[in-house]
Order: sequence, then structure tokens, then C-alpha cells
Amino acid sequence: LINIERINPDSLSGIRGVLTDIDDTLSTGGCLTADAYRAMWDLHEAGFLLVVVTGRPAGWCDHIARFWPVDAIIGENGGFYFHHDGGKLVRYFLYNEQERRSFRTRLDEIRDRILQEIPGCAVASDQTYREYDLAIDFCEDVEPLPWESVIRIRKLFEQAGATARISSIHVNGWFGEFNKLTTTRLCVRRLFNIPEEQVKDALVFCGDSQNDEPMFEYFTHSFGMANIENFLHLIQDRPTYITTQPAGSGFCEVAGLLLDSIGSRKQA
Ligand SMILES: [Mg+2]
Repeated sequence: LINIERINPDSLSGIRGVLTDIDDTLSTGGCLTADAYRAMWDLHEAGFLLVVVTGRPAGWCDHIARFWPVDAIIGENGGFYFHHDGGKLVRYFLYNEQERRSFRTRLDEIRDRILQEIPGCAVASDQTYREYDLAIDFCEDVEPLPWESVIRIRKLFEQAGATARISSIHVNGWFGEFNKLTTTRLCVRRLFNIPEEQVKDALVFCGDSQNDEPMFEYFTHSFGMANIENFLHLIQDRPTYITTQPAGSGFCEVAGLLLDSIGSRKQA
């Protein structure tokens, strides 16, 4: 992990945009700070593409795609992407409604088993607004659970044949072949016309948790927020760089570095 302070902004002069996770990457202690929101607007106004890549539900993503300065949003760990096209919200799902309904029926059984076997966890408060996955809260609105319980939740998903990933607050489980990276690559190729082979160098990624692992591995310039230290024991594919400040303040550091790189572009 290279400290962000050791990066020369000139080395980022080819970057066209920013992909970012939300929880504990953009947000800090469950809030979006004024500084982090400002940093998003600064990037947007400077001409960078901004794409949010999150485990949060379709309901949140509908709002974010409409109201935040973003070019697209990938939600539920890759189950769909939303974007604005001529002022209208366009929603692209990897699986159709009937398939999603059958996934949910299977997840209902897993939910009952997890709630029975893991005391202290709960179905996440945003579950109602989800299209694909089941989110089990271990830290957001419940007393933080010990790691053994979090790992056990993931195992219960996997034993039932689902994919499961741990964010900083939820364990998300789903059926269907996708993750944050596969849908990001699809979305970016379709919407922004970046040739497939250039994607990994043209966009930076910011994240903080195990569910960000495929992104850390793929993108040349991947940034872990300083709070990723708490999750390093869970992460095999680590980010290239680490910020000095945690969460939203770390995102502001990355944004500042990219804005500094604009000067070197003009000289080039
Ligand atoms: Mg996160």
C-alpha cells in the first residue's frame, strides 16, 4: 500500500473519471459530509466522469442518479446500473423481473436461517428498496457483531449457493453472475465509450471494504481509504494506494490530487 502523499499528480494526467464506493468511502460515520459532497461537485465541474459503485439498494440509486452530480450508478454490488439520458432515468438490470423474483424467494429462506442462527444481526433497514440481494446488518442499526458472526453470516449465504460480500456495515448475498467489477466494466463500455483495454488505466477507484476487492485488483489506480486498515485481514486483493485520512476525508484527498493533475494536463 503506497501512501497517497507519495503520488505525483502528473502520473494521473491520463485519468478521465472516478469510480467510488459510498459507505465509509464517500460517507463518514453514516453521513455525507459537506466536504465530500463538494469534492464530488468539484470533480464533476472539472469534467471528470463520476460513477458510484455501491452495495446500496435500487431505491437509493434512483435518488442518487437523479440528484447527485454523477454520470451513472452501479448498485446492489453490480445487479444493475442507472443513468440519466436526456433528463430521463434509464435503468439497466442484468436479470429481468421474473428472475429477480425467483432469486428473492430463495433469499427469503436464507434470511430465516441467518436470523435464527446468528443472534444480534438484523435484516438491513434498506432491504425493502432492494431488487436483488439480501442485506444483513451487522453494524449499522444493530450493536456491532463480533467478526466470527460476520464470517458465519457469509458462510450461511455461501452454503445455500449464493454469492456473499462483506461491506463495512452489511453482509450482502445474492444469486446471479455479477459483482461490482463486471457491471462497472459493462456500464463504462456502454455509456462512456472508453475502449475495454483502456478502462483500467483511465478511471481511478476509491473503496474501503471486502466487497471492493475485485475493483482494487483490476484498476491500476485504486485507492483504499485509511479506514481499510480495519478490513485488511479480510482482503486478498489490496488497493494500490492508501489515503492518510479515513472515509469521506480520504475521498477528498483523492479528489484534490486529481484536480491538481489538471494543471499538468494543460502544460502537456
Ligand atoms: Mg464501503
